[in-house]
Amino acid sequence: MQSLIDHARTFHQKVGGREQAATPQDAVAPQAMFVTCSDAHVIPSLITGARPGELVELRTAGNVIPPYRLGRLTAEAATIEYAVNILGVQDVIICGHTRCGAVQGRVRSSTLRSAPTTRWWLLQTHRWREAPALTDEEAARAHLVAQLDKLRRYPRMARRLASGRLRLHGWFYEVETGVVSHYRPETGGFTPL
Ligand SMILES: [Zn+2]
Repeated sequence: MQSLIDHARTFHQKVGGREQAATPQDAVAPQAMFVTCSDAHVIPSLITGARPGELVELRTAGNVIPPYRLGRLTAEAATIEYAVNILGVQDVIICGHTRCGAVQGRVRSSTLRSAPTTRWWLLQTHRWREAPALTDEEAARAHLVAQLDKLRRYPRMARRLASGRLRLHGWFYEVETGVVSHYRPETGGFTPL
């Protein structure tokens, strides 16, 4: 922890006031929204090379998106709405990854005995059937596709996707190699970006 504090303490010297000097008129419009897992190995700005201001992030355990329910307030729905309606984001990336503890916990729920809230979250928001024959990586890719399906059912997303004003991308990040692949709905498979 101390190294993190030390870095934060001197961070302003490294950026040299560049961000602080920016006026709203200078601000970079976000290029995309990046939805991914809270896992510490998945760093959206490193993967994409995004500079400050370019990427709106939404991070949840297992990059889970809850199913849309009219009248139900969730942090995910509010964050998506703000990014799309207010910031005008036109591309939304949802990115799964290898070695995802949340996916492993969903496949083998005994691993989440000491995390009942996490288990409830995954059970409530992830309706894909148990598939014990899948490898962890196959399960993580199937899990990503399930989140894509839920995301495109959010009404505002659905309308903008239908009108071509919004693009939805499913990415899968291999933490061991750094390789990123892209989900192809037309084949149901993944190909390198
Ligand atoms: Zn994860």
